[in-house]
Amino acid sequence: MRIAVLGTGMVGRAIAHRLSTLGHDVVIGTRDVEQTMARTEPDWLGNVPFAQWQPEHPTVRLVSFADAGAHGDVVVNATHGTVSLAALEAAGAANLAGKVLLDVALSLDLSEGMPPLLAVANTDSLGEQIQRAHPRARVVKSLNTMLADVMVDPARIPGHHNVFVAGDDDDAKATVRSLLSEIGWPDEAIVDLGGIRAARGTEMYARLLFEVSDALGTYDFNLAIVRK
Ligand code: NAP
Repeated sequence: MRIAVLGTGMVGRAIAHRLSTLGHDVVIGTRDVEQTMARTEPDWLGNVPFAQWQPEHPTVRLVSFADAGAHGDVVVNATHGTVSLAALEAAGAANLAGKVLLDVALSLDLSEGMPPLLAVANTDSLGEQIQRAHPRARVVKSLNTMLADVMVDPARIPGHHNVFVAGDDDDAKATVRSLLSEIGWPDEAIVDLGGIRAARGTEMYARLLFEVSDALGTYDFNLAIVRK
């Protein structure tokens, strides 16, 4: 499958690499290819510059957001959540029309330090904003409730644990479920929360994720739903 991952951070890299190892034709989108390749400093999370990562992952090509939008049958939004609408606009509304748009972003607002606030919450969500901005795209919110390393390697967390999907288009959710399955998520681990409105819940979980991480001293964990 032709997949475009928008975002050169740790999430975009992890998802792009994993899907590429599974045989998909994957590109990563960025604002400016030359500028991104010219960076020499680690990003704000300490990840190595893209030019250092790229040679170790030669099957993943770096292209502009617009070229990425044109490439993907599935487009993954792994951009900083407060700028995702701008990144998706750059990817091109016409490019996104009809496509599955897997949104993993969070609208984290670090203006008051850690834990972050959410720029969108309670009565709206980033997933819904994206669906409204791109009504012809088929937005599915998923994978946003865990660390990037867990998204692409669920087996690193022992035992049963869960991933959520939310979106208005059942076929798009089926495509995302199928990709999750390829990545290694067992079908019974995938909880379908219904329409894209449920992105409010999975996005607002971010607050608890940061509190738990602070308490445990690690992000290497996940949610497990235990029921009767
Ligand atoms: P990030 O640092 O949050 O975002 C990096 C991407 O945002 C880059 O591709 C960058 O473009 C783009 N960007 C920054 N400013 C922009 C602007 N003004 N206009 C357009 N694009 C802009 O990367 P991340 O840590 O990999 O996280 C990606 C998303 O996943 C975020 O929404 C995050 O909240 C969410 N998330 C992360 C984790 C995790 O484990 N880190 C877990 C769950 C959810 P350039 O390539 O041009 O620099």
